[in-house]
Amino acid sequence: MKANQELMNLADRCLLHTYNRYPIILEKGEGVYLYDTQGKQYLDFASGIGVQALGYGNQELNAAVKKQVDLLMHTSNLFYNMPVIRAAEWAVKASGMERVFFTNSGTEAIEGAVKAARKYAYVRDGHTDHTIIAMENSFHGRTIGALSVTGNPRYQEAFEPLMPGVRFAAFNDLDSVKNQIDETTCAILLETVQGEGGIYPAEPEFLQGIKELCQEHDILLILDEIQCGMGRCGQMFAWQHYGVKPDIMACAKAIGGGVPVGAFFLTERVAEKSLVPGDHGSTYGGNPLVGAAVDKVFSIFERDHIPEHAREMGVYLEKTLEEMAEEFDCIKGRRGLGLMQGLVLDIPVGDVVKAAQEQGLLVITAGGNVLRMLPPLIIEKKHVDEMAVKLRAALNLRKIRGEENV
Ligand SMILES: *Cc1c(COP(=O)(O)O)cnc(C)c1O
Repeated sequence: MKANQELMNLADRCLLHTYNRYPIILEKGEGVYLYDTQGKQYLDFASGIGVQALGYGNQELNAAVKKQVDLLMHTSNLFYNMPVIRAAEWAVKASGMERVFFTNSGTEAIEGAVKAARKYAYVRDGHTDHTIIAMENSFHGRTIGALSVTGNPRYQEAFEPLMPGVRFAAFNDLDSVKNQIDETTCAILLETVQGEGGIYPAEPEFLQGIKELCQEHDILLILDEIQCGMGRCGQMFAWQHYGVKPDIMACAKAIGGGVPVGAFFLTERVAEKSLVPGDHGSTYGGNPLVGAAVDKVFSIFERDHIPEHAREMGVYLEKTLEEMAEEFDCIKGRRGLGLMQGLVLDIPVGDVVKAAQEQGLLVITAGGNVLRMLPPLIIEKKHVDEMAVKLRAALNLRKIRGEENV
């Protein structure tokens, strides 16, 4: 077998260089732990960016997927298939939304949501040229449509011209949203908790205010729950904390427990007047393989009360992080909801992430100066304690090395 370094060199020669990867080759996972090719163990507080809600090696989920591999992996959407029927029934029940369309990724869920909103306005008004209000500092994906509603010039600049008809407002600033509304506005799109932008939960008055504006003007509320949904914030979907139901919701990441799948959801009111046969599609979307995974993920979530567990663990994680914020000068604050948490640092976050890796802890970054934690939702208190030991060691190591006064 090739040596580790040789393999990474090979990857760097062959793969398009769009990621700066850490020099670790992950090989297997078990529960909340990951192992690299050297056999080193890592406590995983990143979950493959919020995907592995049920951790690694869940035997029920794996068995369901393996069984489906042998039975039937793909049919196209010209036919019905059993797994996607069950997946859709669960998805509708768990969300309280009435209709679901399965995609292969988060960015495609956003594309579908945007198309549904535009079609709804077109059916209502009989003309096009409607606009969408999205938020500054947001993240919705990398395809052109999703990129167009992503409020981050750094991601957008080189790819202009983007999709027209998008305006940006400041997150958690209701007046800023109001100022962008006019008769062309067909939808307001936001993450219930901004993820990539730096873990900013929507303030309740902000989200409720937006909902009122939407109702007043027949504007659709689109919530991106790709990262903050699926139990992550201690409710099945983060909007349930606020009592603000969207008209359209985008979901992905944890919904497949590791297989690539996303979804957008609509209320019946919107579904009735938007996408019809011919308007939208996906060859893979909701195929039997991912359907089997989604079906199993939802059934485990319900039976094992995963969102409730995440809420409980979130309280404990918050408390632990608050204690650390008291202890270390380099931690300027904590933000988050449930098991979606961020520590604001005034030292280079990338260095802390690497120091944590040395200690056997995986964490990620967000929004420039935020250390982001998205642990599997199945963590126990002992894992939070273990994370704290390792993160303390990582931060103290910096101090010992004289890199930072803490
Ligand atoms: C990850 C993410 C996306 C994009 O999902 P992909 O599966 O990477 O296309 C969109 N919105 C939010 C909030 C995300 O966190």
